[in-house]
Amino acid sequence: MSESAQEIRPYRPVTPRIVAEIEALCGEEHVLSGDSKAAARYAHDQVSEARYAHAPELVVKPATAREVAGIMALATREVVPVTPRGAGSGLSGGAVPIHGGICLSLERMSRIVEIDAKNRIAVVEPGVVTNELDGATLPHGLFFAGYPMSEEFCFVGGNVAENAGGGRAVKYGVTGRYVVGAEVVLPTGEILDLGGKRAKDASGYDLLRLLVGSEGTLAIFTKVFLQLLPRPLHRSTTAVFFRDPRSALEAVPDIVSAGGQLPSAVEYIDRYSLVETCSALGESLPLGDALAMLLLEVDGASESAVALHAEAVREACRVRGALSVLRADAPGEAERLWRIRKRIPWALRRAAATQTVEDVVVPVSALPELLDEVGRLERTYDTRIPCFGHAGDGNIHARPQKGAAWTAEEWDVRLGKLLTELYAAAARLGGTISGEHGIGHKRKPYLPLVMEEAQIALMRRIKRAFDPANILNPGKIFD
Ligand SMILES: Cc1cc2nc3c(=O)[nH]c(=O)nc-3n(C[C@H](O)[C@H](O)[C@H](O)COP(=O)(O)OP(=O)(O)OC[C@H]3O[C@@H](n4cnc5c(N)ncnc54)[C@H](O)[C@@H]3O)c2cc1C
Repeated sequence: MSESAQEIRPYRPVTPRIVAEIEALCGEEHVLSGDSKAAARYAHDQVSEARYAHAPELVVKPATAREVAGIMALATREVVPVTPRGAGSGLSGGAVPIHGGICLSLERMSRIVEIDAKNRIAVVEPGVVTNELDGATLPHGLFFAGYPMSEEFCFVGGNVAENAGGGRAVKYGVTGRYVVGAEVVLPTGEILDLGGKRAKDASGYDLLRLLVGSEGTLAIFTKVFLQLLPRPLHRSTTAVFFRDPRSALEAVPDIVSAGGQLPSAVEYIDRYSLVETCSALGESLPLGDALAMLLLEVDGASESAVALHAEAVREACRVRGALSVLRADAPGEAERLWRIRKRIPWALRRAAATQTVEDVVVPVSALPELLDEVGRLERTYDTRIPCFGHAGDGNIHARPQKGAAWTAEEWDVRLGKLLTELYAAAARLGGTISGEHGIGHKRKPYLPLVMEEAQIALMRRIKRAFDPANILNPGKIFD
């Protein structure tokens, strides 16, 4: 544990008596000591900076809501912190136990309980890998539309806790839109059933909506009811190349309304990200002089309607001065383009030893200005900031890279200033500091840049009402 965490730590240690009680509850084989080799992966999520890592004292893998409730009641009684954990794919340090204590891993709660096709509802445990849910809904002609682009490895519980978005949020919205019910365990150990298979609920405060996106600080999701949609039968994908970021991003509002329907994806990728990813994958794209690309997709139930919509989208790009258009009509071509898009985070991670992943979001019409601001920051701080992301939602992943000549100390100082300016610009443009990755630990110092103290104070009071001993995922968001 770092010195600073020890100094401020109001918590009691996980004693052998507590370990014995938890082993009796969940089974010895489902409890790991925090200093064991097997527990090492629970000390970090996908935030790459080492300073955000922190080992738990104990890792516990319960199998039922009742076991989770037992752990929480014990933790509240003993004042031991508990950090819920899904797949650990988060990008905000949210699942990292920064005060030590117990890492509560939901990985064993991985059952798809039911696909209720009549009501179009999936009932799942939180440890289901998001893509597995996709596989289970396929035979019913249904799908869960709220999934993020990490769907191959993230868990549904993590998606709900983060209110995750993804490549198709421009049409389908984010995870929260589809959460109609949940079984949750409160920090004090009570089990609550919120919502359910019903499509409407106007009875009392909407606690479910409050818990979605609460980043594991208010309650633990032990079961989730997700509304499913009819699966679109047809898709059409196009890559469009633009002279520069501004001309690509100025085209986005026209693309989003082209043909009188919403496209299912409008992804932005800059040239550097494309070149690095293609080179890492052994792929190629007809980039020419283009400095930016939009990856566009439309979907629907009828092949002819999808074809018409796709042509309207391409025409909007041509009118906006696109340099060239690549239609992904050949078999496997759409999958190839999406693979390039999905592997960008991996390729950029290889490209620079030290970098950070940002997630600012602004109104779609403000994207060109946001990218102008990123260009200014690159020049001011003499750094490279590759950008890609969900342009249809105004959500850009900017990844400042540490310059080779800088020391680690210089990087820390410059990065702090750079992020403050980036977030302030997002706020000025009507946006905020995270569209989908959350505040967690990493962005906590910057929340006051985009939120008034009265709002943060209200969130603190809500936190206290749910978690009087402040033991559930402490040190996150504002705490
Ligand atoms: C390559 C890559 C691509 C990504 N793409 C996207 C994307 O397109 N869109 C997007 O939104 N995100 C994306 N992410 C971020 C991440 O995958 C999502 O935030 C995801 O929802 C996290 O799920 P997880 O199971 O890994 O959660 P974790 O990282 O384990 O946890 C995330 C937070 O949720 C809490 N939590 C986890 N499970 C529960 C539970 N059952 N109850 C209560 N709290 C819980 C944790 O305490 C933590 O605060 C990406 C990440 C990577 C590495």
